[in-house]
Amino acid sequence: MRIECPTCQTVLEDVPPDFPTRPFCSGRCKLIDLGNWLDERYRVSTPVNPELMDEEGLLN
Ligand SMILES: [Zn+2]
Repeated sequence: MRIECPTCQTVLEDVPPDFPTRPFCSGRCKLIDLGNWLDERYRVSTPVNPELMDEEGLLN
């Protein structure tokens, strides 16, 4: 099968269905994408952090 890496847009031809890093071309691109996702998530959840801090403060 043919895949296009979401991270670097590299097109790979004849990729086996059990290709371990599918749909990424490599483990590196998979990690980059995961890192971006975590970064997005961190930024989105940043406004929640003060509340979490307050809760921890109450517990202490
Ligand atoms: Zn890639």
